[in-house]
Amino acid sequence: MDENINTFNLKILENTAAALRSNGFEAGVYKNGAEAACALLALAGTGKKIGLGGSATVQELGLPEKLTLAGNEIITHKPGMGGEERRSVWLAALSSDIYLASPQAVTLDGKIALVDGNGNRCAAVTWGPRKIILLAGINKLVKDQEEGLWRSRNKAAIANNIRLKKDNPCVKTGRCSDCSSAWRICNVVTLLWKKPSASDILVMLINEDLGY
Ligand code: SF4
Repeated sequence: MDENINTFNLKILENTAAALRSNGFEAGVYKNGAEAACALLALAGTGKKIGLGGSATVQELGLPEKLTLAGNEIITHKPGMGGEERRSVWLAALSSDIYLASPQAVTLDGKIALVDGNGNRCAAVTWGPRKIILLAGINKLVKDQEEGLWRSRNKAAIANNIRLKKDNPCVKTGRCSDCSSAWRICNVVTLLWKKPSASDILVMLINEDLGY
């Protein structure tokens, strides 16, 4: 990466971390994904129940495998699970020791946006797990809430629809049409304006493009 861009990125990430802290969140800045993964593994230690929301960032960093190798139990739904089985996994994730997810957007003034199809991840990042850790690559940074909600549907959701091979109109057009598809993945928004008072939330801001 160009050294000037690198310096600029780190300043923006530090400013955003300060804004997140002023909204009650714990926040840290990491030079790259490898450094963030290392810090997360040290924080998790071993013997924990770790809930995972669907997250390309978590997968790109290889966290499920690394956390399992370190002796943690991963709680996440898998393709092919029936409705009742998924429900029991999502309920178990709500009472995990650590819950990992990646927001679709983090605003420069320290707010966080997540959009879900089912709402299990939107629920788990507000209350339940002992500790909630949100990982965000620099590509998730946006100016404000309005841009964050725009990004959630017009960038993140479309890329996720493509990844998940959903038969939704945005996959063909590259644009969100606010569809009424049965497979729509944009049904629920969680906006964390400030840290919910009974929750412990760490936001890891990473100087690398990660996920969608
Ligand atoms: S077209 Fe539907 S599924 Fe695609 S981004 Fe828009 S609301 Fe989400």
